[in-house]
Amino acid sequence: MNIKLSSPWLGQEEIDAVTDVLLSQKINMGMETKYFEEELYAFFGRSDIDVSCVNSCTAALHLALQCSDIGVGDEVLVPTYTFVSTFQAIKATGAIPIPCDVEIDDVFISLEDAQNRTTSKTKAIVPVLFAGCDGKIDRLYEFARNNSLIVVEDAAHCFGDEEIVQREGILCFSFDPIKNITCANGGAIVTSDMLLAKKIKNARLLGVVGDTDVRYNGGRSYDFETVAQGWRYQMNNIEAAIGRAQLRKFDQIKLRRRKYADMYINGLQNIDEIRLLPINIKTAVPHIFPIIVKNNLRDNLRKVLQAKGIETGVQYKPNHQLKYFNLGYELPNANELFQNMLSLPLHPALSVEDVTYIIDAINGIQNL
Ligand SMILES: *Cc1c(COP(=O)(O)O)cnc(C)c1O
Repeated sequence: MNIKLSSPWLGQEEIDAVTDVLLSQKINMGMETKYFEEELYAFFGRSDIDVSCVNSCTAALHLALQCSDIGVGDEVLVPTYTFVSTFQAIKATGAIPIPCDVEIDDVFISLEDAQNRTTSKTKAIVPVLFAGCDGKIDRLYEFARNNSLIVVEDAAHCFGDEEIVQREGILCFSFDPIKNITCANGGAIVTSDMLLAKKIKNARLLGVVGDTDVRYNGGRSYDFETVAQGWRYQMNNIEAAIGRAQLRKFDQIKLRRRKYADMYINGLQNIDEIRLLPINIKTAVPHIFPIIVKNNLRDNLRKVLQAKGIETGVQYKPNHQLKYFNLGYELPNANELFQNMLSLPLHPALSVEDVTYIIDAINGIQNL
């Protein structure tokens, strides 16, 4: 047995899509990018939004913040328990990421801790919907309103979530190889603020004003204007073509991810040594399936699973533990979760037999 923790789900559709782009010789941002944005817009099904594709979720977060005028001298509240990318994106604007503790039940940013760390310099909050857990999001928006903060959601774990797109904040998605759909490298920013969307579209092409429309039509601007800082963050046609093929089979991807998560929930919920996160598989499309292993048994369980050919992960090292982001304080819930959390394999390339085998193996914890 050799069961991977995560994997993209690629086939002939993606191979054909990439081949077509290569044969066209038009490999940088162009029509494919435009079509992918249009198809994402139709997929989200909300008429008053704009979708901008970029080359990663890290870039999406960076642009969403920068184009909301977050920069030097500002502070941004962010849960410490996230991929380092969220912190780097905030730091890239010149602002200071303020690591906040998370709730022990669902790894959501602790609003109590966030409140304590709010100062006159605090301008934005970046919630991370860890494993798709967003049960406290309404309270977060209330908190943001009360403190006049911009909300940029790191929705890297949430592509396909049926409720997320109705929210008022800026949403950033990831299409990296292991996310719910992939472009190899890719991300998207969704916002209902059309002025912001326009700024983002310029900023992703080195700040060249209006270059997006020129690129969509296969051209390039030569006599142009630039009025703000931009970056080379556009999504190219090859990436977009992969994304389009993935989007076409998203129904199957969603079905599989939900089915395997449901099997885990049913198979593990009665094991005393294990605690599950409150993942709602009716609305979320789970990207990862982390469990909490009690009684300091995590590392033992991980070894047992490894010996049975089951790869697991520990996501994520809290950012306040990293030298570059440490502000000199500890965050106890995050530290505890990092000791006890274990991510189980979850991706569409798994089979029902694989997941049954993993659940049986975890049941062995009762004899550890
Ligand atoms: C994957 C991920 C990112 C980064 O996405 P990229 O597309 O690789 O830049 C950011 N935040 C979280 C929580 C992620 O899981």
